[in-house]
Amino acid sequence: MPALFIGHGSPMNTLESNQYTRTWEALGKNLPRPRAILCISAHWFIGSTVVTAMPDPRTIHDFYGFPQALFDYEYPASGAPDLAKRIAELIKPDWIGLDQDQWGLDHGTWSILAHMFPEADIPVVQLSINAMKPFDYHVRIGRALAPLRDEGVLILGSGNVVHNLRLIQWRRPEYGEDWAVDFDQAVIDQIAADPGKLGQVVSHPGFSRAVPTPDHFLPLAYIAGVATEGEGTAKAFLQSYTMGSLSMTCFQVGDGPRVNQT
Ligand code: ZN
Repeated sequence: MPALFIGHGSPMNTLESNQYTRTWEALGKNLPRPRAILCISAHWFIGSTVVTAMPDPRTIHDFYGFPQALFDYEYPASGAPDLAKRIAELIKPDWIGLDQDQWGLDHGTWSILAHMFPEADIPVVQLSINAMKPFDYHVRIGRALAPLRDEGVLILGSGNVVHNLRLIQWRRPEYGEDWAVDFDQAVIDQIAADPGKLGQVVSHPGFSRAVPTPDHFLPLAYIAGVATEGEGTAKAFLQSYTMGSLSMTCFQVGDGPRVNQT
């Protein structure tokens, strides 16, 4: 099973049809059908490592100021308590909590799955991103999770390589500033050459502007870990930018469907 990092952009992508959502839709149609999905979402950035372990995770609307239709959106996929336990086994000796009632599926997960698997008929678990841990921890957990690929689980990182909301230019939906493109390209090159050393990009001159907070970048560290255990590389696709300071670039570990790269 391939593993993916998807640049999710605005929550509004849930309800829209555009070049990004059409690519996600094509991925869902052409990937081998997963038994379950593990999503590492930028939007569950907390002080511990936890996996959703309830049978029926709720749809979490973790944003403000968007149309009512987005608050009404539901993604009713079931959970996968057995997969949550398997994940806890895989990442030992690191500790992970099994969440029964705190979280569910947030828009980092369902804005993408709404297009990839609109029937919501594949069980989904979410893994939190532990804000207290150093960068290499996240790569290490990704490495530990890699065997799930052979168990029919789609490992999906959801974030944005470049994510600076303070510098957003709302009226330029298909534009990326030079510094954003430069940093994104450096990440593409690093992931292609040696994903296990993704942490080296912190010394890139554009890092602090592209990654002012780590939440949207870190899901890629997990996919880099998965790539390190497998093919040793991951390929970028849909390399693109929106509103000046967001990158929508995606990555795939392993062979998979040919998707439209424009
Ligand atoms: Zn986001």
